[in-house]
Amino acid sequence: DMRSSYIARRITPVENFPQPGIRFRDITPALQDARALRNSIDLFAERYENVGITQIVAIEARGFIFSAALADRLGVGLTLIRKPGKLPREVFSTSYMLEYGDDVLELHKDGLKVRDKVIIMDDMLATGGTMSAAVELVRKTPAQIYEAAFVCELLYLNGRKALDSIGVNSFAICS
Ligand code: IMP
Repeated sequence: DMRSSYIARRITPVENFPQPGIRFRDITPALQDARALRNSIDLFAERYENVGITQIVAIEARGFIFSAALADRLGVGLTLIRKPGKLPREVFSTSYMLEYGDDVLELHKDGLKVRDKVIIMDDMLATGGTMSAAVELVRKTPAQIYEAAFVCELLYLNGRKALDSIGVNSFAICS
């Protein structure tokens, strides 16, 4: 699809960020480009508009951006998965490993209901650790997971393998 290659070309590799030896992919140019931003929401909307999604589950922080626009487009609600200490009511928590140390994600306990059918969204799939933690949280609720959705993925890290119990969709391959 021409639209996904348009988005992919605007995701910019930055060497040695945030640490020496790391190649970071910066999505901010794709957000600043009105056509790339519109294309990404169009592609998600076409895929998810007739499948009975009731909530978009969004991972802090860049997952929020695409999720909010898509939720509005689909006419569904937005459920937030946040870093620890941000959600004010009772939460499910899960910790997951990062390259150095670990991190925690949280979801309000009453956030999803038995009839909910959700997609879980983030901007980028790398190792799949973040999305696996999000899946674990959603599985503590009675909601059904339709699939995990990303704008782009880094193929060589094999994130799809880490997520083999759910469907995975992304529109752009980051090189
Ligand atoms: P994973 O847990 O290794 O799959 O990493 C994915 C998470 O880290 C997502 O929340 C991304 O936003 C973030 N992330 C990892 N690598 C990059 C990158 O190169 N650019 C932007 N975000 C990244």
